[in-house]
Amino acid sequence: MIKKIVVIGGGIAGLSTAHRLIELQKEKNLDIEVLLIEKTNKLGGPITTIKKGDFLIELGPDMFFTKKPWALELSKRLGLENELIETNESKRGTYVLWQKKLVPVPEGFLMLAPSKVIPFLKTPLFSWAGKLRMMLDFFISKKCPTDESLASFVRRRFGNEALERVAQPMIGGIYTADPEKLSLKATMPQFIEMEQKYGSVIKGMLQNKNDNKKDSGARYSQFLSFKNGMGTLIDALERSLEECISLNEAVTQISRNEERWEIQTERRNIEASGVIVTIPSYHTASLVQNFDTELSSELTSIEYASSSVVIFAYKTKEISHELSGFGFVVPDVEKSDLIACSFSSIKFDGRAPEDHILIRAFLGGALNPEVLNLDDNQIIDRAKNELEKILGIQGNPELTLIQRYPDAMPQYHLGHLDKVANIQNRLSDYKGLEIAGNAYSGVGIPECVYSGEQAAENIIKTLF
Ligand SMILES: Cc1cc2nc3c(=O)[nH]c(=O)nc-3n(C[C@H](O)[C@H](O)[C@H](O)COP(=O)(O)OP(=O)(O)OC[C@H]3O[C@@H](n4cnc5c(N)ncnc54)[C@H](O)[C@@H]3O)c2cc1C
Repeated sequence: MIKKIVVIGGGIAGLSTAHRLIELQKEKNLDIEVLLIEKTNKLGGPITTIKKGDFLIELGPDMFFTKKPWALELSKRLGLENELIETNESKRGTYVLWQKKLVPVPEGFLMLAPSKVIPFLKTPLFSWAGKLRMMLDFFISKKCPTDESLASFVRRRFGNEALERVAQPMIGGIYTADPEKLSLKATMPQFIEMEQKYGSVIKGMLQNKNDNKKDSGARYSQFLSFKNGMGTLIDALERSLEECISLNEAVTQISRNEERWEIQTERRNIEASGVIVTIPSYHTASLVQNFDTELSSELTSIEYASSSVVIFAYKTKEISHELSGFGFVVPDVEKSDLIACSFSSIKFDGRAPEDHILIRAFLGGALNPEVLNLDDNQIIDRAKNELEKILGIQGNPELTLIQRYPDAMPQYHLGHLDKVANIQNRLSDYKGLEIAGNAYSGVGIPECVYSGEQAAENIIKTLF
């Protein structure tokens, strides 16, 4: 008998799940029917590319990481290899806003520690006392690996300047998180591994650099996008799944009916052999509440942060800053309304006409949640005023857009890995129920792809 599998949620995790199910159906000649149900009228969640005149604008994510290979591999399987583009090598680099001025992050400074001596010694970003403190990493003995916060780890190994001026805005910025609460083990375990293996993070980074040099096989830069933006990936997934997608339909409950699952939506009841839930964990919690309150409360305990992206296009001649980098991050101690800013048309080609610059400013996050209480015009004004001061902008933007992301970024707080283990443990009681998405094992697009594909593989293993 044909087995129906319902995927709930049409973000990148849900689309990757459904796509992998169809691949497995073809590879193994399986008798399955896949249905993906999405609440809104669009797929891809925050991944949205729009065209406005000659501008190609990313409203959400603008690239993906290639060291975690799953998004790149999916792109290749979808036939998108020729659409991939790399970041603009000639302008590589990031600034930090420090004492109201943009200071380049020294070359070779990787998230929380230096891996190149000369640029590190020369940078005005740290005091001499701060630089000496960072070098103590070579001598500080390692600690038993525990679930330590980003702030505690960086303070312990490198001191306060490294935390305040780079680690908090860079790593905290990626997760829009509070570094005092962010679990390093759940987000960047490689630094804990370096401490354990080499007794020093800097030694570990130097060793990795040598290993990478030997690895001549790498063909792609670390970050990629598509010529026509990240929406290319979503469109290709949508095309591959056309028959199986239902938009504008919210799932309101799932329940068990002996060996089968009942999926209730706003307009129908669906019976299925399997269900894969890829929506934010607080929504998953309400769907499973009726049959497992423990699972539901574990899911609810994962907190989320909100953010907002404001996009501006300016004439290049109206900006006095040289913009020789991909953007800047803003330490919390700067007390700015911005948490980061990306120079989109410098980072990737084909985003704006030659004589214009496309800029994306990020506001909000766990450390600045109150910004989201303002109305759109107020948020735009705050972003504009800050950018005018920081970049020396004279004229008015030719294009302005704002996009809000309420409760979109799960917070991997201390204890996150235990939470995920508990959730997986509860799920093991239920044949034919899987979860995936950014709430559990990585927020980046590659990790979301992987979590969806794994959920698809798991459900096929349990059902056949
Ligand atoms: C502003 C921003 C910028 C980012 N930049 C990057 C970047 O540059 N690179 C990167 O790798 N990552 C980036 N990320 C992170 C990454 O984009 C996300 O973690 C990822 O897209 C989340 O995918 P998902 O499928 O897990 O969840 P979502 O995309 O949130 O998908 C969940 C879907 O479920 C639907 N849904 C919810 N409830 C129901 C229901 N009851 N029934 C049916 N459907 C439902 C929602 O409408 C949504 O479409 C960024 C995130 C944000 C917010």
